[in-house]
Amino acid sequence: MSVFHDEVEIEDFEYDEETETYYYPCPCGDRFEITKADLEAGEDVATCPSCSLILRVIYDQEDFMTGEESKKVNKNEKVFA
Ligand SMILES: [Zn+2]
Repeated sequence: MSVFHDEVEIEDFEYDEETETYYYPCPCGDRFEITKADLEAGEDVATCPSCSLILRVIYDQEDFMTGEESKKVNKNEKVFA
């Protein structure tokens, strides 16, 4: 069972263009992270590399779809690392 620490809108994340990753401060001192590719794939769970907390990301998946990719999106292809 997954229990989300919190739910945060993508607007409140900090985006790093170099790594194409969104970050949000974690109470443990590290940061939750979710990549742009994850969002495009429909993933909405940001994880912290230093603890077991997870965060639900509130966003509109359509905002992250490119024209070409949008037709290929298949919910069954979700990958949970
Ligand atoms: Zn943490």
